[in-house]
Amino acid sequence: MAHAQSIAARLDALLRTAEIPDYPAALNGLQLTSRRDVRSIATAVDFSSVTVDEAIRIGADMLLVHHGMFWSGAQPFVGASYDRLANLISHEIAVYSSHLPLDVHPEVGNNVLLARRLGLTPTAGFARYKTIEVGVSGPADMSTASLVEGARALTTEFGGSLVVTPFAAGHVTRRWGICTGAGADTDTVREALERGIDTMIVGEGPHHTAVQARDHGLVIIYAGHYATETLGIRALGDRIASELGIESRFLDAPTGL
Ligand SMILES: [Zn+2]
Repeated sequence: MAHAQSIAARLDALLRTAEIPDYPAALNGLQLTSRRDVRSIATAVDFSSVTVDEAIRIGADMLLVHHGMFWSGAQPFVGASYDRLANLISHEIAVYSSHLPLDVHPEVGNNVLLARRLGLTPTAGFARYKTIEVGVSGPADMSTASLVEGARALTTEFGGSLVVTPFAAGHVTRRWGICTGAGADTDTVREALERGIDTMIVGEGPHHTAVQARDHGLVIIYAGHYATETLGIRALGDRIASELGIESRFLDAPTGL
């Protein structure tokens, strides 16, 4: 058994937390400590009242999340925000969050795991951000319709609805790019075209990305922000729990998006 701080240090080393750039609100690493040894871990995509209540219900001592406690910016600890914090502290539950360090990880990362789930093998990066490439890309020779169906199975498993831009019957995906979560924007569409990518698989994106895609003959599969980010945090929890000889449980709290 280990203390939350020592588990966080192991996670930070695994995920290279100090080296991976991110948005300030991500605040990657240990976000809330505790005074008790961690005997079981819970994982969730989002820090929320639902996942905090579920972590308490199952008796977890540490909650690992992808979108952390400060994801929606600085907020006063009043109302539901106060209740979450008070409940976590009174139950001695620590919180650890990892956003882009988890997206980019070569073994437990959201992007690599989504590629594997869809039967795709990454050979290059995709979705440049500062010093890193958040996503992955690679060659394929696969019917786009079958790729869509593979993605749809994941989306519906986690309570979402897949959206895909129009493509011709018999369209074949020869080069793909994946960026989980809010992966479609003007920059990633431009980058996809530069890299010769014909099929982009993302979590979500604004409407104009679908218009741009259609204009340039690019297919974008919007497989759900939540669904595409369930894979990494779950794998991270399983990995650290097996190293520590303890249990990890994934708390499924779909947002519909
Ligand atoms: Zn996300």
